[in-house]
Amino acid sequence: MRWRPDDVVVMRYGRNGRFDGAEPVRIVGERGGYVAAWLAPGTRTMVPSLGDGRPIRAATLAKRFSAERLAQPGRWHGEGILKLIPERGAHSIWLFWSPERAFRGWYVNLEEAHTFSRRRIDTCDHVLDVWVEPDRSWQWKDEHELLAAVEHSWVAPELAAEVCAEGERVIGLLERWKSPFADGWEQWRPDPSWPVPELPEDWEHG
Ligand code: MG
Repeated sequence: MRWRPDDVVVMRYGRNGRFDGAEPVRIVGERGGYVAAWLAPGTRTMVPSLGDGRPIRAATLAKRFSAERLAQPGRWHGEGILKLIPERGAHSIWLFWSPERAFRGWYVNLEEAHTFSRRRIDTCDHVLDVWVEPDRSWQWKDEHELLAAVEHSWVAPELAAEVCAEGERVIGLLERWKSPFADGWEQWRPDPSWPVPELPEDWEHG
């Protein structure tokens, strides 16, 4: 394994070497070719925003994929998320729980194959997602956003085809009940004594 449990690394989202999203996460283990990283409730993050500071979601689809994005300080609200990051693969898989710790499902975030360094995991969001219920039923999310991203040249048509194929590959892992779905992460629990990781001042570098 690349890291030891309890290492804090920063997951960064961006493109062309510029990052507009960053979150410090705690490495908690590795199973089936995926490293697991915990995004704790209340973590201070950097969030991609429009030039005027509004969240990306506040923009129309056309603006969302043409306006310049800036990193704005934010905070992760709600329950924590366990992110499973493949050693090789253009996605990560996020596990969600309710406040009562009932498992709510897997969110497959399609994203560029990761660049790993000692304290960083870098990627680029690929817009399209898949939501998987605890009963293993699934649905695509944000297909219309991927279409808009292609229309506005944010995503090349060839890349969009690769993103869809990667989504189908992950759905295949689910349907054949392979890692990481079959690895029991739904039963995992964070240690309540863990401090919330801090975003390092130099998060843009290193
Ligand atoms: Mg996404």
